[in-house]
Amino acid sequence: MNWHTKSIETVLAELNSSEAGLDNSAVEQKRAQFGWNLLQEKKKKPAWLLFLNQFNDFMILVLIAAAIISGIAGDLTDTIIILIIVLLNAIMGFVQEYRAEKAMDALSQLATPQATVIRNRKPEQLSSKEIVPGDLVVLEAGNLVPADMRLLEVHSLRIEESSLTGESIPIDKIHKPLEEADSSLGDRVNMAYKGTQVSAGRGVGIAVATGMQTEIGKIAGMLQTGDALTPLQKRMNEFGKKLSYLILLICVALFVVGLLRGEEPVSMLLVAISLAVAAIPEALPALITIALARGAKRLVAKNALIRKLPAVETLGSVTFICSDKTGTLTQNKMTVVETVPYNGKEEPNLPAGLLETCMAVNQDVKKAADNNWIGDPTEIALVEYIYKNKGEALYHQLQEILPRVAELPFDSDRKCMTTVHRWENQYLLISKGASESIAQRLEKSYDPGPWLQEASRMAKEGKRVIAYAYRLVDQLPEPFDYDQVETELHPAGMAGMIDPPREEVKDAIKACKTAGIQPVMITGDHPETAAAIAREIGLLEKDELVVNGRELAALTEAELDQKVERIKVYARVSPEQKLNIVQSLQRKHHFVAMTGDGVNDAPSLKSSNIGVAMGITGTDVSKEAAHMILLDDNFTTIVKAVKEGRRIYDNIRKFVKYIMTCNGAEIWTIFMAPLLGMPIPLLPIHILWINLVTDGLPGLALSAEKAEDDIMQRPPRRTDEGLFSEGTGYHIVWVGLLMAVVTLGTQAWAINTNHENWQTMVFTVLSLAQLGHVLAIRSDHTFIYKKGLFSNPSLAIAVVGTFIIQLGVIYLPFANKIFKTAPLSLQDLLICIGLAAIIFHAVELEKWIRNRYYRRK
Ligand code: ATP
Repeated sequence: MNWHTKSIETVLAELNSSEAGLDNSAVEQKRAQFGWNLLQEKKKKPAWLLFLNQFNDFMILVLIAAAIISGIAGDLTDTIIILIIVLLNAIMGFVQEYRAEKAMDALSQLATPQATVIRNRKPEQLSSKEIVPGDLVVLEAGNLVPADMRLLEVHSLRIEESSLTGESIPIDKIHKPLEEADSSLGDRVNMAYKGTQVSAGRGVGIAVATGMQTEIGKIAGMLQTGDALTPLQKRMNEFGKKLSYLILLICVALFVVGLLRGEEPVSMLLVAISLAVAAIPEALPALITIALARGAKRLVAKNALIRKLPAVETLGSVTFICSDKTGTLTQNKMTVVETVPYNGKEEPNLPAGLLETCMAVNQDVKKAADNNWIGDPTEIALVEYIYKNKGEALYHQLQEILPRVAELPFDSDRKCMTTVHRWENQYLLISKGASESIAQRLEKSYDPGPWLQEASRMAKEGKRVIAYAYRLVDQLPEPFDYDQVETELHPAGMAGMIDPPREEVKDAIKACKTAGIQPVMITGDHPETAAAIAREIGLLEKDELVVNGRELAALTEAELDQKVERIKVYARVSPEQKLNIVQSLQRKHHFVAMTGDGVNDAPSLKSSNIGVAMGITGTDVSKEAAHMILLDDNFTTIVKAVKEGRRIYDNIRKFVKYIMTCNGAEIWTIFMAPLLGMPIPLLPIHILWINLVTDGLPGLALSAEKAEDDIMQRPPRRTDEGLFSEGTGYHIVWVGLLMAVVTLGTQAWAINTNHENWQTMVFTVLSLAQLGHVLAIRSDHTFIYKKGLFSNPSLAIAVVGTFIIQLGVIYLPFANKIFKTAPLSLQDLLICIGLAAIIFHAVELEKWIRNRYYRRK
C-alpha cells in the first residue's frame, strides 16, 4: 500500500479512524481481523525433539551401542539396565532444560515494550502488542516504533532506521504526503516503521500495518539471533574438550591393560565406555545454562529482569556501579518548593505572572483517563505546582489563550527545550532548562552572574533547578532551529524542586562499599545538587571528587584514567560522556555496571559490562541495549542483583567442584586398581549409577544453597579468574584422590578378609563418599556443624533420599540381581559409613587450614 502518497484525511478515512483515535468496538473488530501486533517468533523446538536431543551426544550413543553389543554377547540384564539409566538421564536432562526454557520465555514476555496510544480521545499506555491498524500512536525520543505508521504530526522527529534500511544516520521525518509512489523505504520520510528507533523529537502516527504485515515482519527471519555462550561456558567447553581427550586416552589404556591381564573383552569394553561416559563432563555447559536461567528467574522476583543470560554470571564481578541520580538513587517524586520570578521587559499582559505562565504551558504532560498525569516527573512537578497554587481554571485558561504552534523538544545534551505559543498577533517563545543552559541563551546585554549565583544557592540546598526564559516575536524565526530560536532570551525566573533520596539507598551504598564495589553517581543535574545528595546518601566522602561535564571534556584520556577511580560524582554530563567514563574504568580493569534510561544512553549501556536500563522510566531503546532491566528503577535492586549473582556463581562453582571431584575419584579408582594388582572394582552399572543418582540429585540441590555469610564482605571476583582458582583445582585433585584411596583401601581390605561381597562394599563406600562430600562443600569456609547439616532443605532431602535408595540397592533382593550386589552385615555397613565420613571431615579440615591461611594473609 502506498500510504506515503496519501493525504492524512484519506489515510484516516481508509482506516476508519479519526483524530480522536479508535473506539473500543473498532479495536475489537480490527483485532479479530488483523490479530495481535507481534512478530512470529523463531519456531520453538517441540518438546519431543528437545527430549530426543538428550540422546544426541556421541558418548551416550557409544554407550547405547556398547549395551547392545553386550546384550548380543549374552548379558541381557546389563543391556536393559544401561538403557534404563540412559533413559532416566535423558528424562532428567529434558525436565531441567524444559523448565529453564519456560522460565526464559516468561522473562522475555515481561520485557515487551509499552506504547502510548490515543483511543476514545484519551492517551493510554498499552502493551505494544495491542496496537491495531488505525490506532493513533504517540512517538517520543527513545521509543521503538511499535507498528508501521503514516505520520500525522511531527516535532523535530528523527528516526534511526538502521534495523530496516542499514542507514545509521537518523532521518528527519515530515507529515506531508509524498509524490513518488515507488520510492524505497528509506525515502518514505512521512512513514515510521516497526522496530526502528525514535532518536529525537516527538510525533503522532496512525498505524497502517501491524505484526507480520509490517515491513520488518516480512523479513522477520533476519532478526532472529542465537544466544551467545557465557564466558564461563566458553571456558568450560574448551576445558571439557581437553579433558575428554585425556579421559578417552585413560579409558583406552584401561581397556588395553585389562585385555593384557586377561579380562573378558566385552565386559572390559563396557567398563571403559561407562567410565568415559561417566567421567567426561559433557553435560556441564548445559547444566550451567540451566543454573543461570533459574537464577534469572529468581532475580526477577527481586525486580531485576535479565535480558542477556551471561549477565547473571558476570554480575558477581562488578567493581563499579555507575548510577543515574534521578529516580534511581532518588525517589523521582519531585515537588516544587521554591519559585524565583524575574521581571522581564515588555512582558505580555497575561492573567498570571510570567514565570507561572511559563510553568503552565511549556510542558508535555497529559492527564490520563485515570486522572493521573503522564509524562516527565520534572514537568509533572512544575504543572502540579501551578494546578495547586493557581487553580485548575487558570491552568486551562492559559492553555487556551496560548495555543502551542511549534516546539523544540528537550534533549539531555542541550538540557533545554522550547515551546512556541500564539499570543494575539505575536508569538511567545518559552525556553526552560538547566540554569547554565538558559544563561547561555540570554540576550547578550544581560549579566548572567546573579542568575547563576541564585541557581547555585538553590543547588547547594540539594534542589533541582529549572530555569525559564522567553521572547516575544512577530514572526517565527527562520530556519526554525536551536540557533535561531533559543537565543536573545529574557529571563523569566527559576523553580527549585526537591527529590528526596530513596530510603533504602543509604544502606545499599554502605553494602556496596563493604563488598568492594564503588558506587558512582552520573547525572545531568547541577554539580552542587548532585554533591549535596551524594553526601546525604553516603556516596561522596571527604577526599573524593566531583567532576562536571565541562571539566570531563577537558581531560585527556590519560588524565581521566589517572583520576577516574577517585571520582564519585559526575554532574552535568551528557549521555555521550558516559561512554568515556565506562571506557576509562575498563582501561583500569574495572568491571562496570552502568545505568541509563534515555535513547542516547544506548552506547554506554552496550559497552559497559552490565548495562542496566530502567523498567519504569526507561526508553525502549535503552532497554534493548541493556543486559538487565530494573523493574522498580531502584539502585538497591542492582546491589541485590549483584549479591544474587555472586551466590549463583558460587553455587555453580560448587557444583562443578562436586561433579569434577566425583568423576576424578571414579577414574583414579578404576584406573589404579589394576595397577595395584586388584580386579576392576566396579561394574558399568555401578559407575553409571553413581553418576546419575548419587551425583546428580545432590548436585542439583547445590544450586539451592543459600548465600555464604561473607558474600557481601569479600571483594568482587576477578573476571579473569578461572573456575579452578582459589584452590578449587587442588580440591578436585586431592579429594578425588582421597576418595580413590579410601575406596581402593576398602577393596584391598575386603578381598583380604575374604568378603564375598567386597564389590558391594566398594560401591557403597564410593557412593556414600559423594554424599559426605556434597554436605561438606556447601560452604567454602563455614564449618557444616556450625552452618547446620540440614540448613539447605532440598539438599537434605536429596542426601537422605539418595542414602535410602542406596540401602535399597544393597538390601532388596531384586536390586541385588540387577546391580549384582549382596547384603552387607550391619557392621560392614557401619564401616562403609565411617569410611565415607572420612571424606566429609577431610574437607572440613581443608576449610580449617584455608581459614587459618587467609587469616594470616
Ligand atoms: P539523571 O541522569 O540522574 O537521570 P537528570 O534526570 O537530572 O539526571 P537530565 O534529564 O539530563 O538528567 O536533566 C538534566 C538537566 O536538564 C536537569 O538538571 C534540569 O535542569 C534540566 N531538565 C530536566 N528535565 C527537563 C525538562 N523536561 N525540561 C527542561 N529542562 C529539563
